[in-house]
Amino acid sequence: MKTTEEYVKADGVYCPVCGSGNLECGPVQIDNEGAYQPVVCNNCFSSWVDTYKLSGYTEMDECTPPLEEDDTDHRKYDQPIYA
Ligand SMILES: [Zn+2]
Repeated sequence: MKTTEEYVKADGVYCPVCGSGNLECGPVQIDNEGAYQPVVCNNCFSSWVDTYKLSGYTEMDECTPPLEEDDTDHRKYDQPIYA
């Protein structure tokens, strides 16, 4: 059987038990710890759960956060002055 390291190095595309690429992947579940995906080998019928960790972000579409309302005095000078 392959170790976790060998399995990750192969990008998890082969069964760690029999080496078959005939895998069936279930739905991905995500929580604060990471993501999990159940996998079943269609060749030897072993089953396990792939684990994923957050590694960063990509394709940032940055928006400007809305200005926070505050009641400090300097805001009064930003208002139009009606004399
Ligand atoms: Zn297998």
